[in-house]
Amino acid sequence: MTGSEGTEPFRVDDPDATPSARTGLPVVVIGAGPVGLAAAAHLLDRGLEPLVLEAGPQVGANIAQWRHVRLFSPWCLALDPVSVRLLGAAGWTGPDPSTLPTGADLLDQYLQPLAAMPALTSRIRLHSRVVAIARRDLDKVRTPGRERLPFAVRVRVGSGRLHDLEARAVIDASGTWTQPNPLGASGLPALGEADARRHITYGLPDVLGRDRARFAGLRVLVVGAGHSAATSLLALAELERQAPATQIVWAVPRPPRDPWSARAAPGPTSSPPEAGLPPTLPRWSTPATSSWSAAFASARSAWPVTALCSMATRSTATTTSPTRAVDGSRPTR
Ligand SMILES: Cc1cc2nc3c(=O)[nH]c(=O)nc-3n(C[C@H](O)[C@H](O)[C@H](O)COP(=O)(O)OP(=O)(O)OC[C@H]3O[C@@H](n4cnc5c(N)ncnc54)[C@H](O)[C@@H]3O)c2cc1C
Repeated sequence: MTGSEGTEPFRVDDPDATPSARTGLPVVVIGAGPVGLAAAAHLLDRGLEPLVLEAGPQVGANIAQWRHVRLFSPWCLALDPVSVRLLGAAGWTGPDPSTLPTGADLLDQYLQPLAAMPALTSRIRLHSRVVAIARRDLDKVRTPGRERLPFAVRVRVGSGRLHDLEARAVIDASGTWTQPNPLGASGLPALGEADARRHITYGLPDVLGRDRARFAGLRVLVVGAGHSAATSLLALAELERQAPATQIVWAVPRPPRDPWSARAAPGPTSSPPEAGLPPTLPRWSTPATSSWSAAFASARSAWPVTALCSMATRSTATTTSPTRAVDGSRPTR
């Protein structure tokens, strides 16, 4: 079959087409964030059995920690089409696709209603942290038949006992919120970073709300150049207006100089490697801060939401044809 734009639909051969030790086992999905819940909806849509293991006390447990932040993508990019179809069949009407939700909106208006759907709710286990994954009956030296064996998934339930589950496959949708970038170069913590841990806030603190006292009237160094840094800088600029003793210093990484370049291109203009700096430390520079606040704010308001939504609708149209309905039967079209 050829897709409407002349492209071949994506096909995957089922490794379990013939009965094996994995037959009948669930596909374990790690995490009940937006990606984990979408994965579970897609598995059901294909007649497969999901089991979603969520470490936190609720679905979207990571998002619950940044409820106060507005997303940079509109609803049309935050909603999964198969999940929307499942919700729509139960009478759910979605939000305005062109508006930007907050983390709280995403939870309250989408993830929690989705997780409450009878088809999903019985397949989600809260307070269940996956701590290890292996192949059943294999160890570090034995490997024959690995691809036909089930996965062994070790789960800590609450703060208590460990349990082992068997799974046909495992989808890791555990997100990145609890694995922030360290301050050092090469993905390693900077020397001394662990010792300074109590002075460092990773992720996105609620600068104007819950975490205000931690920053008001103090000198705050923001490290990073992504959306989280921009969001924190805007909040700190507002805090500086409310509490003028607050000072903001912003450091963005710049690529380290190649220490070998002096050797590769010797000559009077080549610079020596930076003396005295251990090679694992990133080089930070501080941009001029006079106008970044206004620049960020206007960039955010100028994002072409309508264009993004129409792109999302186009790509949705070519990717949503189901192979199986939720009850396992094949669709009629
Ligand atoms: C402030 C902020 C704003 C953002 N804005 C946008 C945006 O506008 N647009 C966008 O596309 N993205 C945005 N993101 C990125 C956003 O995090 C992701 O798009 C989205 O949350 C990813 O969903 P996820 O399901 O992969 O991960 P998460 O939402 O992080 O969910 C992972 C889930 O897995 C659970 N979990 C983790 N480890 C385990 C384990 N070992 N066992 C069991 N469960 C586990 C967690 O408790 C959590 O519930 C933003 C992120 C932040 C922090």
